[in-house]
This record gives sequence, structure tokens and C-alpha cells, in this order.
Amino acid sequence: MIRLRGITKAYGRTTALDGLELDVEDGEFFCLLGPSGAGKTTTLKTVAGLELPDAGTVELDGRDLAGVEPYDRGVAMCFESYALYPHRSVHDNLASPLRSPRHRLPAAEARARIMETAALLGIEALLDRPVGQLSNGQRQRVALGRVLVRPARAFLLDEPLSHLDAKLRQQMRAELKAIGAVRRTTTLYVTHDSVEALALGDRIGVIRDGRIVQTGTREEIWYRP
Ligand code: ADP
Ligand code: ADP
Repeated sequence: MIRLRGITKAYGRTTALDGLELDVEDGEFFCLLGPSGAGKTTTLKTVAGLELPDAGTVELDGRDLAGVEPYDRGVAMCFESYALYPHRSVHDNLASPLRSPRHRLPAAEARARIMETAALLGIEALLDRPVGQLSNGQRQRVALGRVLVRPARAFLLDEPLSHLDAKLRQQMRAELKAIGAVRRTTTLYVTHDSVEALALGDRIGVIRDGRIVQTGTREEIWYRP
């Protein structure tokens, strides 16, 4: 599980996180919902180790992550700007995260991860195609695939559907929901879109001004007066 306690983070005079407390349970798909500037991305970066909090603790599966390098944290983060290799095949784009020295998997295991991830995202038939020839939606799937292919303890997803058109967004929401149900890997998913949060989240945390102001299941969030 992911546990954040008393996380404070300021950028100059701007307080991005103000004593934030958050618990994401094992295998849970947790949506962090809030307006622009609320501190969502900073929260993810704090878990990923890309920002260090001024105060507070970050734990993953009971391990205090203070001083642990990003690549050793066992999390896979997906940023808004995707780094795809347009001239390489879908297969190579999915394989490269598994080839880095620190995360190298045995070949058979890597192949199995790649095939499973491609199947989950419905892109098996595209494995030999260069990414540069794909449609927007297909590219988006490959970008997500580059995160989901990693044998991570937690996935951190930052508005991964934000630049898709409404129809594709809706379709990929359903797919993400299905993937979450199959994989049951702890997922912290950031969005400013309440429809998306209510559609995807096992639980939802509402963040405002660097604090969680409400947490609950979709029914609790939706019906609370
Ligand atoms: P969200 O993801 O909810 O839009 P952020 O975590 O990106 O919010 O930002 C929270 C606050 O911190 C905002 O006021 C933002 O302007 C500020 N902030 C974020 N990153 C930086 C940065 N690198 N330098 C200065 N201010 C920043
Ligand atoms: P390469 O450039 O070797 O094809 P990548 O650029 O995908 O591979 O990854 C380089 C290193 O950065 C690897 O250790 C990988 O695990 C790590 N890395 C890249 N992207 C992420 C991410 N989104 N989350 C966590 N680690 C990442």
C-alpha cells in the first residue's frame, strides 16, 4: 500500500502540499480528484521520488522511501507527455522499459509481460508496426503499455486520457477499469475530471489546496450532502 503522512511541499512561496495524508490500499484503483493547482501532480512526484517533500513520510508496502532513488522505488509513473520511439515498433516500445539494466527481466518473462500487456490494451495485432504509423488512440495505448508492462508494485498515472477526444476517452476508461480488475496492482490515478474519477476509482480522494478534503467510495463521494 501507499501511505503518505504529513506531506508538505512548497515551491518558493507557493505551498503545493500542506500536510497531506493519504492511504491507498493494496490492489486498489484510487483516484485523486481535484482542480488544477490542487497538488495532484506534486503528490504523484513525491511518491515517485521526483520531488522530495519538505516534511512528512512516504511509505510503500511498509517501507519508508526517504532516500530511495526513483528507479529503486518499485513504482512506474506515466507522465502527460509520453516518450515514445516513433520509428520503432510497438513491440520495441513495450520492451525497452524491461531492458534497462536495473529492471532487466529474463527474456521469457519479458516476452510474457509484453504479450499480456498488449492483450490487455488490445494492441497485439500492432506489435510489428512502427508507432509513428498509429492513430492517436493506438499511440495512447502504447504509452500506457510502457507503464503497465513494468512489474511495479504501484502504478502512478497522471491524467493519462486528458488529450483524447471524448469518445476515445470513454472507451479507454472502460479498458482501464477492466485492466485494473485483472491486474489488481495498486494504482494512484490523478484527474481533474469527476466523471472519470467516479467511473474508475474503487475509492476517490478529493484534493484541494494541497490537502485531502474528502475520501470515500464513489457512492460516498457522490451522495454526500
Ligand atoms: P495539479 O497537479 O493539481 O494541477 P500541481 O501539483 O501541479 O497541481 O501544483 C500545485 C501547486 O504548486 C500549484 O500552485 C503549482 O503552480 C505549484 N507548482 C507545481 N510545480 C511547481 C514548480 N516546479 N515550480 C513552482 N511552482 C510549482
Ligand atoms: P530505454 O531508454 O533504455 O529504452 P526507458 O527510457 O524506458 O528505457 O527507461 C530508462 C530507465 O528509466 C529505466 O530504469 C526505467 O525503468 C526508468 N523509467 C523510465 N520511465 C519510467 C517511469 N515512467 N516510471 C519509473 N521508471 C521509469
